Amino acid sequence: MAREVPASAGRAGSYLGVLEEIMDRGAHPTGDINDRLPIIPHETLGADCCGCLYVRRDGDQADIVCNECAAVIRTLPAADVEAAMLALAETDTICGARCTHCGALNTFPGFSSIEAFTCSECGEGVVVGTPLQ
Ligand SMILES: [Zn+2]
Ligand SMILES: [Zn+2]
Repeated sequence: MAREVPASAGRAGSYLGVLEEIMDRGAHPTGDINDRLPIIPHETLGADCCGCLYVRRDGDQADIVCNECAAVIRTLPAADVEAAMLALAETDTICGARCTHCGALNTFPGFSSIEAFTCSECGEGVVVGTPLQ
């Protein structure tokens, strides 16, 4: 009864519509787990991909998949998937090293350490000696 919107209240009507859409989305059974999870770029796992990982539930099982390249990162019981995603998010394995030639900072997502690389700035090969503190 309170939902009745008079034709003259066009603006109020559209606000209600937006609100209802938001509430609908929140109640969506598959949308809800991804809303709680951190956004993990596929890149952080060392992939050359601009996508992000999300959880696809399939009954008792769940897949961690990439929304861009559709790679399945991991398949595991649905009950464990949230913990697995959080663990992935905490794996902050982005290694950085400075080029000894031009001083540019090069980053390597997915690596915890790097011994040698080619500088993305000047293209010179760099061998990393003692890690910077
Ligand atoms: Zn991907
Ligand atoms: Zn360089």
